[in-house]
Order: sequence, then C-alpha cells, then structure tokens
Amino acid sequence: MQKVLNFVNGREVEPLSGEYFPTDDPAVGQPYALVPDSGEADLQSAVDAASRAFPVWRDLGGEGRGALLDNLAGLLQRHAEEFAQAECVDTGKPIHLCRTVDIYRSIANLREFADAARNFHGETFLKPNGEPATDSYTLRQPLGVVATISPWNLPLLLFTWKLAPALAAGNCVIAKPSEVTPMTASMIAQLSAEAGFPPGVLNVLHGKGVNIGATITKHPRIAAVSFTGGTVTGTEIYSHAARLLKKVSLELGGKNPTVVFDDADFDLAVEGAKNSAFTNQGQVCLCGSRILVQESIYNKFRDALVAKAVELKPADPLLDDTRFAATVSKPHMEKILGCMDIAKSEGGKLLAGGGRARVNGRCKDGYFLQPTLFEGLPSDCRTNQEEIFGPVATLIPFKTEEEAINIANCTTYGLSASIWSQDPERANRVAAQLDSGTVWLNCWNVRDLEVPFGGFKKSGVGREGKWRAMEFFTQEKTVTKLV
Ligand code: NAD
Repeated sequence: MQKVLNFVNGREVEPLSGEYFPTDDPAVGQPYALVPDSGEADLQSAVDAASRAFPVWRDLGGEGRGALLDNLAGLLQRHAEEFAQAECVDTGKPIHLCRTVDIYRSIANLREFADAARNFHGETFLKPNGEPATDSYTLRQPLGVVATISPWNLPLLLFTWKLAPALAAGNCVIAKPSEVTPMTASMIAQLSAEAGFPPGVLNVLHGKGVNIGATITKHPRIAAVSFTGGTVTGTEIYSHAARLLKKVSLELGGKNPTVVFDDADFDLAVEGAKNSAFTNQGQVCLCGSRILVQESIYNKFRDALVAKAVELKPADPLLDDTRFAATVSKPHMEKILGCMDIAKSEGGKLLAGGGRARVNGRCKDGYFLQPTLFEGLPSDCRTNQEEIFGPVATLIPFKTEEEAINIANCTTYGLSASIWSQDPERANRVAAQLDSGTVWLNCWNVRDLEVPFGGFKKSGVGREGKWRAMEFFTQEKTVTKLV
C-alpha cells in the first residue's frame, strides 16, 4: 500500500516511531494509503529544522519569499491535474470540484500571498507638532516557528490558505494536515523543495489530532497556531495555547442560515439554496444548512428545492460530470446518518433523501449519502442547532423580517449567512443585524481573497484574508525618534 511520508528539513522522512495507520478511499470504501502516526520526537526534529532555517528565511526579505511562493504556484499549476486526481481519491469529492475549486484556489492562495510578501508594510507616524515632536514607524516582523493545523474538507485549499501567509511573512512552518486527507499536503511539500525553498522552512507532520496535533499546540518554541476545524477542537487548542501565551487564530464550525424573502429572484434563490446546502456533500463550513423561507412562497420554494435535491444523483467522483459524490470517511458518514435519525426522532418530516445512496460498479461500497431535506423542526432542536457537516438541511418558514433575523441568530455559531431579496435596502438592513462573520447578498461562497474572513460567536477567533493573515503571522515593532 502507498505510504505517505513526513517532510522535515527539506526531505521526506518516515515517522521516527515507524508507526503508520491506514486511510480510506471513501468512494470505494477501502484503505488505500498509510499515514505516519507522528509523535513528539518527529515534532522536535521539525522544530529544530525550522529554528535553524528561520534567520535565512526571514532575511531573504519579501521579494525573495514572494518569488519562491510564485515558483511553487507555477509548479502546482503545472501539476494541477495530478493534484486534482489525488484530492479526488483522498476526499471522495467530485473531480470537477477538485479542479475548479480546490487546486485552482490553492494556486490562487500562493499567488495572492506572493504578492503580500512583496507589498506588506508597516506604518509611519510623523508628528512634527507633537509634544515632543517625533517621527515613528512600525516594522512587521515574523514570529519565528509557527504551526498550521487544517481539516479534511478542503485539504490543499485550506492547507495553502494558512501556509502561504505564514511563509510570506517570514516564518518557518510546522504544518499538520488532517489525518483523513494527507495526500496533497505531502505532494506540495515535495514540490516546495523543487521550487527552491530552503530546507526547514516548510515541515509537514502527519498524524492524529489527539497525538501530534495536541503535541504541536503545547510545544514552547511554536509561537503561533493557525487552526481551522471543529469548535470543540478549537476550544481545546485555545486552552493549551493560552498557557504558553501563543498567538491563536481559530476558524471553526457553522450552522449557517440561508434567508429567502418573498421578493427574491425565485430561480436564483432555489439554485443558491441547493448549492449552499449540498456543495461538497454539505461538507463546507459555509454551507447553508438552515433554509429560512418567507411563508408566502414557502410551499412553492420547498417543492422546487426538493426537486433539485432529488435530481442531484450521487456518482463516482472521478467522472467529469459528477456533481455530488462521497462523504469523506466511514465514521463521518455514520455520524451524519446518526444526525438524520435524530432529525426523524425530533419529529422532522423527511422531504428528500434520508439515508445511504448506492453507486454501482467500483463505488458499490463507497460512503455515499443522499441529499437530504427536512421540514417541521423547531429552530431550537438539536438538528437546527448542531453542525452536521453533511448533505442535510432543514426548511423553516418565517413571516416577518424580524422573525427571520431571530431564527437566523438563534444558534451559538456565527460563521456565514446568505440573504436572497431583490430589495437592496432590506438585504443590507438584514445583513447588518445577522450575527455572522460573512453575509452574502443573492450569492453564496463568493470569496475575494483580500477581504476579512472569520466567525462570530463560537465560529471563531480572529480573521483571515490577505492582510489580516499577514498581520496574524507577524508582530509589530514601533521605532521612534525625536525630531
Ligand atoms: P477537526 O477539528 O476534527 O480536525 C481539524 C484538524 O485538527 C485536523 O488536522 C485534526 O487532526 C486536528 N486536531 C484534532 N484534534 C486536535 C487536538 N486536540 N489538538 C490539535 N489538533 C487537533 O475538524 P475536521 O473534522 O477535520 O473538519 C471539520 C470541521 O472544520 C467542521 O466543524 C467545519 O465547520 C470546520 N471548518 C471550518 C472552516 C472555517 O473556515 N471556519 C473551514 C473548514 C472547516
């Protein structure tokens, strides 16, 4: 069976314990690769390599680091199809999505932060009339050795979204991808050597969250942890990091509302609600899993959305025209099936789906689920409060704008929301009142890499996005002289 390896000090290495565990191809439901079960000794060797590389990397300057990030983007572009195929096998998501989102956006991340490396700057404060008169300027300096910990739903996209700013800002990195989807992180580490990154600048350690993940967050020489994943994990990382006063960025879960008013462009809203609920089998933190629809159009909207959900046929992810494929793993599929049972036991009326889907041929044992819709559930029940992170959404009717806002805001999460209305005043008024880090008006998941991104409430701490990420991965120094 294929072995994934760690990447430390510029080369691929076995875990020092020699221990591995299997990972599945979720579309066929069989193990297909072995993943290193890294531990403390692997971390120490990676931190030592990163510490040695740091002065060289820092002193290369923004132009030099930007050029290497651009080299890496170019190499990834050249190998894009290979990476898309690998991501498809590792995650079970449609190859179309791997090509047009995962790999495409990973290249964009590297290019965006190559630009940031060149153009990030401090500020000047010229105070000739101050008492006393001063000139000050700030320097934005790297933190040293930092860690990134990323999830499985957009493996390379989120891996590069953290890695690129960390490197652009002049840090050396210990990166831990999800143990469920390790493949493309390992592949890009190898490309980094070809791109010319000095040994030790990027180190990738594979393994389980509770082992190597937790060990990373407790290491005294790691100055910052940038984490994307579940809220429970984020809370644990926050508490470990607090004891060592590490800088922490947390991008966490969501239970996002899609709010459809009766003046919405109907067809656009139905299509938007479908994409928002079921893209990547509902495994996007930004997915709209609670679909709030104004009462006067509720029945018509429900019927149209159910028809769209039924049309979405699970299929082999490697086929070009597949738009809905496997969930990422057997435990995750079972968790989602459990959530469907909870929805039924809470009195939810099943409108579409509700169980496993069978795909013939090589995928007959794969982890496929049906796109699933429920209605008739109160907004305070578990199904409408807890993140499912699968292809399961609920429809909830509302009468007034005020009621829509109350329902939308009544969870502990606050990551994103979408509003569907052709009245711009209403759309902007409601956007201002939603407890969400991001609100989309008549669209969903449109991401400008420069704009701030992050969650309200239990959806996160801090913001990512081009300049926000550069701020996170640097510390500010003020230099003042009398004039
Ligand atoms: P997860 O929290 O289980 O794991 C995420 C990463 O953390 C993995 O690399 C894992 O190995 C590691 N990890 C697990 N336990 C750890 C610990 N105790 N200490 C350190 N690291 C640990 O999440 P997941 O199941 O991989 O991903 C799904 C979750 O991610 C969902 O909740 C989803 O909403 C969230 N997510 C959020 C965003 C965002 O931008 N806000 C984006 C994508 C996914």
